[in-house]
Amino acid sequence: MAFKFWFCVGSQDLYGEECLKKVADHSRIMVNELNESGVLPYELVLKPTLITNEVIRKTFDEASTDPECMGVICWMHTFSPAKSWILGLKELSKPLLHLHTQFNEEIPYDTIDMDFMNENQSAHGDREFGHIVTRMGIERKVIMGHYKDPEVQKRIADWMVTAVGIGSSSHVRIVRIADNMRNVAVTEGDKVEAQIKFGWEIDAYPVNEAVDYVNSVSDSDVKDLTALYFDLYKPLYEGRDKDEFYRHTAVQAKIELGLEKFLVDNKYDGIVTHFGDLGGFKQLPGLAIQRLMEKGYGFGAEGDWKTAALVRLFKLMTKDIKGAKGTSFMEDYTYNLVKGKEGILQAHMLEVCPTIADGDINIKVCPLSMGNREDPARLVFTAKEGKGVAASLIDLGTRFRLIINEVECKKTEKPMPKLPVATAFWTPKPNLRVGAEGWIICGGAHHTAFSYDLTSEQLCDWAEAMGIEAVVIGEGTTIGGLKSELRWNSAYYERR
Ligand code: MN
Repeated sequence: MAFKFWFCVGSQDLYGEECLKKVADHSRIMVNELNESGVLPYELVLKPTLITNEVIRKTFDEASTDPECMGVICWMHTFSPAKSWILGLKELSKPLLHLHTQFNEEIPYDTIDMDFMNENQSAHGDREFGHIVTRMGIERKVIMGHYKDPEVQKRIADWMVTAVGIGSSSHVRIVRIADNMRNVAVTEGDKVEAQIKFGWEIDAYPVNEAVDYVNSVSDSDVKDLTALYFDLYKPLYEGRDKDEFYRHTAVQAKIELGLEKFLVDNKYDGIVTHFGDLGGFKQLPGLAIQRLMEKGYGFGAEGDWKTAALVRLFKLMTKDIKGAKGTSFMEDYTYNLVKGKEGILQAHMLEVCPTIADGDINIKVCPLSMGNREDPARLVFTAKEGKGVAASLIDLGTRFRLIINEVECKKTEKPMPKLPVATAFWTPKPNLRVGAEGWIICGGAHHTAFSYDLTSEQLCDWAEAMGIEAVVIGEGTTIGGLKSELRWNSAYYERR
């Protein structure tokens, strides 16, 4: 399904047919220009100018029920009395962007007269519209600026991605083939509340039902996929026997094919495993999970369904972004505390998504230090440089909190040849000390959903739409400010 966004322009008939014709002409030019900019990930569809209660209500009703429509963009070209919008807005169930823009960029100093002013008065009309949206308590995004400004276009594009996240959240379905790791707190949570708040369906299956799928994969399919692995990735034998290395890699191919069929047949788009609850699996799913994440599935380790759902949500949000740099399940592992070179080494036992890889991807077969299965094959690489966000969703007992850290991904100073896992290395904003202290004060987990392609603004807007608290640790964050914000947020969210 190709997602679309509706462009709804408000006006009224007070200024006559000629004025309304210009409004329609301007709107068409703007929508064409925005669609042709190449910046927007989804198509804008222009709706007939909205001038009466009836048309507004009908248009918003249609937007609410059209499965292709992921959001509505409103702009008041002229003054549109806002009581006309109340009934329509009450029925609008899609994300709303109020684009506060204008057709002309510059005041036409030499020719401007009262007719021009009456025709081009969004500075006036958009305030009337904004007032009623605020009075009705409707969540919306406001973006101000000329529609041709690349920065404005980029912000519209980002909001579209957020709107897709809002609309897609209730389609996330995660299967747990293992429970939460014993005694671990931060990965636990209220699955009923998660379904109410986010629309996530979180179900459990006995691990061996997934294993049955794996065992029924044909040898020829395993052979073909293993051959593809050896085409795509370079094996690093490191003294291991080549036949044994092949056999261990083929086990992961069999797991990938079996798990994918299990997910497709049962309509899940994310999965949770646990190294301590592997049933009939020969190896902890490693390379297999990495490949499934690359295909867009969500993943959480040690039973962490919250992060699995968040990874899946990020995958859905970023799938139509041109030149996306990648999204992965991630874990804070160990620090570099050397002054001027501070950062957190990110990895997991095995399960890091190859979409974030920079350069070559290798296969390694190594022992796990935990669990009791044969040495699993895994993909090993380092991650791209650049800005990203790491997010953790925690359950505070009475409500959820989304914690977002803006991070700068870097190369480690030296290679780590003995480390048998894929890694990223990042310095949190505003710096390692405040980033880590702030994260801990917020109660953030060691597991995160990480993406290069999303921003803290987008994740905050998503959280707002879900009705949960979001806290950003980024440039400008101070511990004192953060603590105050958490106290205010408690007062706000606990009263609901
Ligand atoms: Mn973990």
